[in-house]
Amino acid sequence: MDKFSDFRSDTVTKPTAEMRKAMAEAEVGDDVLGDDPTVNKLEELAAAVTGKEAALFVPSGTMGNSIAVKCWTQELDEVIIEARSHIYNMESTHMTFISRVTPRPLASKRGAMDPEEIEKNIKIPSVHLPRTSLICVENTHNNWGGAVVPLANLKAVKKVADRHEIKIHFDGARIFNASIASGIPVKEYAAVADSLMFCLSKGLAAPVGSMLVGPGDFINYGRRVRKALGGGMRQAGILAAAGIIAITKMADRLKEDHIKAKRLAKSISELQAVKLDPDDVETDIVIFGFKHPEISVSDFLDRLKSKGILALTVPQGIRMVTNKEVDDCDVERAIAAFQEILS
Ligand SMILES: *Cc1c(COP(=O)(O)O)cnc(C)c1O
Repeated sequence: MDKFSDFRSDTVTKPTAEMRKAMAEAEVGDDVLGDDPTVNKLEELAAAVTGKEAALFVPSGTMGNSIAVKCWTQELDEVIIEARSHIYNMESTHMTFISRVTPRPLASKRGAMDPEEIEKNIKIPSVHLPRTSLICVENTHNNWGGAVVPLANLKAVKKVADRHEIKIHFDGARIFNASIASGIPVKEYAAVADSLMFCLSKGLAAPVGSMLVGPGDFINYGRRVRKALGGGMRQAGILAAAGIIAITKMADRLKEDHIKAKRLAKSISELQAVKLDPDDVETDIVIFGFKHPEISVSDFLDRLKSKGILALTVPQGIRMVTNKEVDDCDVERAIAAFQEILS
């Protein structure tokens, strides 16, 4: 097989030609000293787009989330979090390792936690009980197949948080996908949270980096935490140059990825082995169950691979993500491979 169509993730994107050029020409300085004009420009842009006071360029979404948890909590605190969320499933050990707090996972409807359930789980600290200091939300929701969490739900969560003077951190790794799919500006989502992280390096196709946004004093402290975690970068303007293009030029075209994901979902959901309601596919992620009398999930992935299609196993079954900035992300080829293997 000379060329794969890679549906494993929207992190396998490559920087566009325009990004490469901007990276080569970027004006740079030592960002740890605050001297990198391109990083400063990216941070100002991220703050403006999200309607927050300040922003911090971080090497990864994981570090952005870790810094937020560290800034909003104290040791012995508890953090309310959605049970399938990235922070709970992939980063909860970071939470205990870096911030010495514990997660309190709550079930949800496609990523939307019940505000009443949240309120019941907010603790009045005592000698027996931790203090609840933070609620984490995620949108779009990765493990719920890229579901768009309704703004009304997030607003209701904010009401509860405000009533109890608890902060909200928004894992918006794919906030631009949520915005494009719902037509709701990123700013309106950001307004329901005290801080928000979004990734430049997923569907927006930048090679490295994420943004953490929030109040000025939060970002000032976050900058110190970033340095403590080893995330201080020097001439990072080379990376920030791609990030600026990610935000200004790449967000609008995410709708093409959503159309592709829907097309893929509709076709493969007609196959008996595929357990999927295509109506659940709202953005770029397609997650489906797989049940076949003779073919296991891993056999199926091997067979797809032999036909040039790469996909990933997840606890719910199989995950496929569409993105135009991936070499040869060919949905029709994927559909044909499914049909050949399964019929
Ligand atoms: C990818 C992702 C992250 C982490 O981002 P990295 O840059 O891979 O560290 C956090 N949250 C969600 C929802 C993600 O999909």
